[in-house]
This record gives sequence, C-alpha cells and structure tokens, in this order.
Amino acid sequence: MIVVGAGLAGLRCAQSLNISGFKVAVLEKSDEVGGRLRSRRVDGYVIDEGFQLVNPSYPELVATGALDTLDLRAFEAAVEFHHAGRVRVLADPRHAPLETLKSLGQWPVTSLARLGVLMASTQLASASRIAVREDLTTLEGLRRAGLNEDMIDAVMRPFLRGALLDDELTTSWAFSQLLLKSFGRGRPSTHPDGIGAIAHALAARSRASIQLNADVTRVEAHAVTVNGERIECAAVVVATDADDAARLTNVPHINWQRQLCWWWSTPTTSASARLHIDLDDAVTTSALDLSAVAPERAPTGMSLIATPSNSGTTLDEVRARESVARLYGLATSDVALVTVTEVARALPHVAPPFRARRDNTVDGVILAGDYLTSSSIQGALVSGRRAATSVRQSLRG
Ligand SMILES: Cc1cc2nc3c(=O)[nH]c(=O)nc-3n(C[C@H](O)[C@H](O)[C@H](O)COP(=O)(O)OP(=O)(O)OC[C@H]3O[C@@H](n4cnc5c(N)ncnc54)[C@H](O)[C@@H]3O)c2cc1C
Repeated sequence: MIVVGAGLAGLRCAQSLNISGFKVAVLEKSDEVGGRLRSRRVDGYVIDEGFQLVNPSYPELVATGALDTLDLRAFEAAVEFHHAGRVRVLADPRHAPLETLKSLGQWPVTSLARLGVLMASTQLASASRIAVREDLTTLEGLRRAGLNEDMIDAVMRPFLRGALLDDELTTSWAFSQLLLKSFGRGRPSTHPDGIGAIAHALAARSRASIQLNADVTRVEAHAVTVNGERIECAAVVVATDADDAARLTNVPHINWQRQLCWWWSTPTTSASARLHIDLDDAVTTSALDLSAVAPERAPTGMSLIATPSNSGTTLDEVRARESVARLYGLATSDVALVTVTEVARALPHVAPPFRARRDNTVDGVILAGDYLTSSSIQGALVSGRRAATSVRQSLRG
C-alpha cells in the first residue's frame, strides 16, 4: 500500500490502514513530515510555517491518540477588540464567567442578545443538520441570523476573517457555523515545539514506513513512479494538497485562501493569553502572544507575538509593527521582526454550498486531503480515515 504525502491526511490514512493490518509506505517529497503543519527555529524563536492553532476537541484528532503524548497549551476563551484607545472583551461564558459579566456592559444589549442566540443555536444544532441546510455566504448567513452591520463589522468580521483567511466572508456559512461550533467545544491551543509537533506525534503513532525526499511524479491505480523508479503496489492513495493532486490525477483545480504572518520579538509582555484584534488598522487580522502559554517558544525574557494577515504584503510591515506596539502597550522600538511567513496555498476556499464529503476516487486512485472534506486539521484527518476505508473496500470488491 502506498500513500503519497505525509501531511495529516496521509499520516491518518497510514495509521488507519496499519491498524487494519496493512503494510504501508508513505512517500513524502519534502524533507519533513507535516505538510502545511510545520515549524522551525529562527534565532531561538519557534515559528510555525503560517500562523495556525489547533482545537484539541477536534474529534478526529482525539481519535488518532496523538493527543496522549502532546503537551498542548490552551489560550483564553476570550477576544480583546481594541478601538480608539478602548478595549472591549468578548468571552465564552462557560470558560470565563467573570470576564463575561465584566464585558456585558460594554456592548449594546440587543446586539449581544442576537449574538448569544446565534452562538447558542449553533452549539445546539447537530453538525449533520448544519451541513444539510440551504447554504449561503458567511456574510449573508450573519445578516440572516439578525446581526446588524455594526455587530458584523465590529465583532464577527474581524474575528472570522482570521479563522477563514477570508476578508470578504464569502466562505460557506455552514462551514463557518461548524467552525464556531468547534470553538464552543474546546480552546484554541499551540505547542511549545510549534504546531508541527502534532504531525510528528501522528507520524509516530501511524507506525508507517515514511520515506522523505521522495517526489512522486506519476500515479496509477496500482503503481507510483518515484525518483524515476516505478513501484507496484495493491493500492495508491494520493494525500497531497489539491494542486499537487491535480498534477498527478484528473481532479479539478480549486481556489485558495492565502496567509501572510509577521512574527515579532518583544520584551516579555504582561498581556493575557487571548486574541487581540486591532479595529483601528485592519492590516493584521489579529495578534497573539504565543509565549503567554508557551514561553519555550521565545528566549528567556522575550515574547513571540504573531500577527497574521490575509491581504497584507511585506510592504505593510511598518503598519503591522505599529499595531503590535499599540495592542500591547509597547514602544515600536521594542517590537523587532523575527521573520515573515507567506503561504499562498493555505486553505482551500470553501464556497457555498458546503459539501462535507466529496468523491475520493479517480481512475482507480484513492484521494485524501482537506480539500475533499473541510479546510482544517479535523477535515484533513477525516479525509485520511475515509481514504483508508475506500482502500479496504476496493480490495474487498
Ligand atoms: C497558514 C495556515 C493556517 C491554518 N490555520 C488552521 C487553523 O488554525 N486550524 C485548523 O484546523 N487548520 C488550519 N489550517 C489548515 C490545516 O493546516 C490543513 O487543512 C491541513 O494541514 C492539511 O493537511 P493535508 O494532509 O490535507 O495536506 P498537506 O498538509 O498539504 O499535505 C500534503 C503533503 O503531500 C506532500 N506532497 C505533495 N506532492 C507530493 C508528491 N508529488 N510526492 C510526494 N509527496 C508530495 C507535501 O509535501 C505535503 O507534505 C491552516 C493552514 C495554513 C497553511
């Protein structure tokens, strides 16, 4: 059995096949496992290859067993909105009841009530019910939920644009609701060794033989060509991203959401471990002090702050630095750039109507990858398990 690609989808597929007793080889073209989930060290700071957080309540991540060995660190379930020198806080009442009480007077009552109803109904609806409803764009969905333009522009757009990597909120409303539902179940987290630690933990759990620097140039139903050599096998799973899959098979191309992220070094801040959103300059979608929960990610006495952006360019660095200084009460001279990460193919754009399950077989080759399910760690893992099921079915039938 050959799996092409050692991202989360490929690793989960390999793990699932291994549990069923199949011998699996994973061929990965780069020099490390993880795909879009990778981290590296820069001058003593642990930088992720693109800003991302993990929700430890993702059911498929729990099912891998990888969480047992992972020291994930959770952020606060609260967001600070900064505008004209004022700070408004929105907190999850179940995780931060005091913060919620304090924040109630800061928002218009009717807006808060509508937001509360939206959040509660999202939590109560089952995932399958959300997925089968008539779908809209996220912007239309928020309007239909009764949120006025002020609440959308001051709260939901700034919050969701960072999670969806979509400034215009054209993403499927069903997908956004599933995301909001997952935020309600668990707190976004990171790892002291970077987000890539999740992929390494899963690779260890998969027990597959993983060959790095193995660039697959051709796939057939029962063979792959790698580094010029054709290898036959019982089944082939292509677990690459959508563009690489389109190069190897007949799957169609998709649209991508990009992300650029500035990674800043500052003297240790006294800031809490919550997301900060700067409403005075939308050049960044948010700012987060990663070292507030994982001090290992910065040298002693320093903090590591990430500020992602969907539409920013490297030319916006000055504005991003000023934003960090404003949000954390620092002088701009205290905010030094560690590095910039730019990921053009970050998330497959999930347009309405949302389809949680797409065909995963083309010309006898089985596919896995987040573009077949949903653009997330959970989606990638689910697609890997489904591909393993398809392999078992193809061998039986
Ligand atoms: C910037 C950014 C922010 C994100 N934020 C979040 C977030 O906050 N929460 C969340 O849940 N998800 C987030 N995601 C999404 C999540 O990281 C992805 O959905 C998931 O990692 C995709 O995994 P995958 O296995 O489908 O694909 P990939 O990770 O792309 O893996 C594909 C693998 O295939 C390999 N490959 C490709 N071609 C070949 C070939 N010819 N031969 C051999 N190997 C090949 C690649 O090198 C790669 O290792 C984010 C992603 C990015 C990039």
